[in-house]
Amino acid sequence: MKKISLPGTTLLVLCGPPGCGKSTFALRYFKDTMIVSSDRCRALVSDYEENMAASREAFRLFHYTIERRLSLGRFTVADSTAIARQARRELLRIGRKYGFNVTLLVFNIPLDVCLERNTGRERRVIRPVIIKASKKLRHIIDGAFSEGFDDVYVVTDEDLNDPFFKIEI
Ligand code: ATP
Ligand code: MG
Repeated sequence: MKKISLPGTTLLVLCGPPGCGKSTFALRYFKDTMIVSSDRCRALVSDYEENMAASREAFRLFHYTIERRLSLGRFTVADSTAIARQARRELLRIGRKYGFNVTLLVFNIPLDVCLERNTGRERRVIRPVIIKASKKLRHIIDGAFSEGFDDVYVVTDEDLNDPFFKIEI
């Protein structure tokens, strides 16, 4: 059984290709108010979660909301793909500003599983985006500590379906 213990003052940065199961995982383990989702922010500013044209404003809201929570010392989950280096860098910067522990949780889920899960849901992401993101995972896992994350956890598909998998705050 895998157990992850996180300090209360943690910014938990989820990282993984679209369709790997980040949002499903977050809702299973955390209070919904702890989760700040970039897709939800897209919907809040433009009515549509899939509206990529709204990304700029959505990410402003995403970062702003995370900052406000951290300023109050609240445990926070950043639910976005965080596949781009710049995306992780910005979250690290915000976490550091408030003296938070910044932990990266990488979803190391096989590409075919991500593609299959993506096909089975309402909001679908185009395949090339998932393929490209999936190829970056190994590099992200190997470099995460040198990017400055305090902790790095890697979850597998087995962990996602393990009823005894635990997260303690
Ligand atoms: P995105 O980055 O696009 O938001 P995501 O990583 O948040 O994607 P989810 O929306 O959580 O992915 O999951 C994608 C699909 O896979 C959903 O239909 C969800 O129900 C399904 N799914 C998620 N986790 C699992 C799991 N452990 N086993 C089986 N199906 C799952
Ligand atoms: Mg999601």
